[in-house]
Amino acid sequence: MLPYSSLHEATAALGRNLTFAETFWFNYSANKSDYYLYCHNILFLFVIFSFVPLPLVFVELLRSAGFDKYKIQPKVKLSFSEMLKCYKDVMRMFFLIVGPLQLLSYPSIKMIGIRTGLPLPSGWEIFLQLLVYFTVEDYTNYWIHRFLHCKWGYEKIHRVHHEYPAPIGFAAPYAHWAEILILGIPSFLGPAMVPGHMITFWLWIALRQIEAIETHSGYDFPWNPTKYIPFYGGADYHDYHHYVGEQSQSNFASVFTYCDFIYGTDKGYRYQKKLLWKLKEGVKSGDEHNGGSYYAPTQDLKSD
Ligand SMILES: [Zn+2]
Ligand SMILES: [Zn+2]
Repeated sequence: MLPYSSLHEATAALGRNLTFAETFWFNYSANKSDYYLYCHNILFLFVIFSFVPLPLVFVELLRSAGFDKYKIQPKVKLSFSEMLKCYKDVMRMFFLIVGPLQLLSYPSIKMIGIRTGLPLPSGWEIFLQLLVYFTVEDYTNYWIHRFLHCKWGYEKIHRVHHEYPAPIGFAAPYAHWAEILILGIPSFLGPAMVPGHMITFWLWIALRQIEAIETHSGYDFPWNPTKYIPFYGGADYHDYHHYVGEQSQSNFASVFTYCDFIYGTDKGYRYQKKLLWKLKEGVKSGDEHNGGSYYAPTQDLKSD
């Protein structure tokens, strides 16, 4: 809720005219409580979980129309009913855990100082804060994910997320309820360290989930703009983690590749990439076609 009763009052308080975006924000949020604005995240997450993976469903169903060559694990093909089941499971967790978590976590957002007023943050402020949020989440998520691959963590909790050895977009938020709760901590830490505007917070929650859906897409499209983000892992990177499954000691990071590089947990993946590259080069020089299965081994490869 804004502390101004009119646009005129807001202009006087800021000592300048409001920008177009600020006027829009004033008109939208002036009579809405901060709690109500925070709860917008529930609607945003519902829309993202339901609609962002939809193009990937069509791509999976139209594999024969030329998309097959981009599938990371081409031997795996999911039917419409299998994808629908995944979506229904995700929605059950959404209404039982994700939604209530949003409703109940408002006091923590108030405590760390997420603001809803004017002025709105600049584009640079939003960008730099999002960069901090992604970096903090990536680092914290790395260690929690790595812990979840210990025998107890995997069997009791993380096994559920690995039910899809060849991930699909809908499977990004598919996880045990305890994992959903635990992974709320890395998402919260960045905004707690560098609190910003509610709009930045909305963007953070939305972009993190869109990134997770892209990472779980199962497709490695060469024109994907995320390929230009430095140290970005992407679909191929995380797909390998799912492919190896329980034994995986590789590619724990959620967004970037630097943690796995620093702590040496990308060796299996790097070795695999090198092997495949050599295989493709060998096939090329033998004048054979260079298609075929992307992944061959059934367990994590070690280079040492
Ligand atoms: Zn895992
Ligand atoms: Zn995953």
